[in-house]
Amino acid sequence: MELANPGLPNFDYVRATTPAEVIGLLLQHPDDARLFMGGTDVFVRMRDGAMTPKLLIDVKRLPGLTEITYDPETGLHIGAAANMNAIARHPVVLEHYPLLVESVNAVASYPLRTRATMGGNLCNASPCADTALAALLLEAMLVAAGPDGDRAIPAGAFFLGPGKHALKPGEFLTRIEIPTPPAGWAGRFIKLGRNAHGDLAIASAAAGGYPDESAPSGYRFRVALGSVAPTPIRVPEAEAILAQGPINEKTCDAAADAARAAARPIDDVRASAKYRKAMVKTLTRRALVEVWAMLQKEG
Ligand SMILES: Cc1cc2nc3c(=O)[nH]c(=O)nc-3n(C[C@H](O)[C@H](O)[C@H](O)COP(=O)(O)OP(=O)(O)OC[C@H]3O[C@@H](n4cnc5c(N)ncnc54)[C@H](O)[C@@H]3O)c2cc1C
Repeated sequence: MELANPGLPNFDYVRATTPAEVIGLLLQHPDDARLFMGGTDVFVRMRDGAMTPKLLIDVKRLPGLTEITYDPETGLHIGAAANMNAIARHPVVLEHYPLLVESVNAVASYPLRTRATMGGNLCNASPCADTALAALLLEAMLVAAGPDGDRAIPAGAFFLGPGKHALKPGEFLTRIEIPTPPAGWAGRFIKLGRNAHGDLAIASAAAGGYPDESAPSGYRFRVALGSVAPTPIRVPEAEAILAQGPINEKTCDAAADAARAAARPIDDVRASAKYRKAMVKTLTRRALVEVWAMLQKEG
């Protein structure tokens, strides 16, 4: 009997010990080397024949790559290879970054999250990457090491298209830096899948808000969407409506309409584009109403 997926092709394996070694290998093998950390994307794609690297470079044991540290001044630093369960149970993340916990916990299942990393989720650059919405909303900087030294890329400039990101040849992600959220911040991530757990998003929405006297409404909001455009996106049009205010059901509805208009989904096995568009409005509105309720409670 012939198996549909007969296993992995042959490959060479290097467990890198220094960033310089990784950069050197990437430059030497521009077309046939692949980095991996948790391997939950890489090995599935290799098994399916969608990726055929000759060389796999394991970067998760590089110094600092699994570290999670926090300083109120500089924010949260997450090593690119920190696994998702380590992030979600970290006391500082639980205290200051509940939106990140929500988005990390939305990925697949607990066992998978023991291997899967946030760095890998971002570098996979899938439009439906759950943690990308938190990175966009919390205005993370993605720090890469490369031939010209370290480079910090704003999350908003990192995603270029399905599977495409802003890393240059020889560069690799070492850390995700997330600033301390603004005072009074409240956030919410909502994902719609075909089932409650373990599925990729049909559509997802994240919203966050905080008091800001310089905004006519007295608040600034941020809105991000997943799985409804070639990349995860922020929706400045919705954010502008909420900054103008006043914040009420009508403005939340108008902002959700703006999110719906910004979405450019496709039909695929998970859902039709039409359904996705409709769900963008529902999810965005729900996230905004919940964030607004949290802000009012705190205020
Ligand atoms: C059953 C299953 C369910 C899943 N469900 C979800 C889900 O619900 N939501 C979701 O968002 N994802 C889901 N995924 C996708 C996957 O688990 C995540 O994207 C995961 O976070 C990837 O992390 P990783 O460490 O395993 O990445 P890896 O597989 O190690 O790498 C991912 C990509 O990043 C590249 N890469 C690795 N390290 C680096 C680096 N340091 N610098 C630059 N590039 C690098 C790799 O070459 C590869 O292209 C699922 C996967 C499976 C198998």
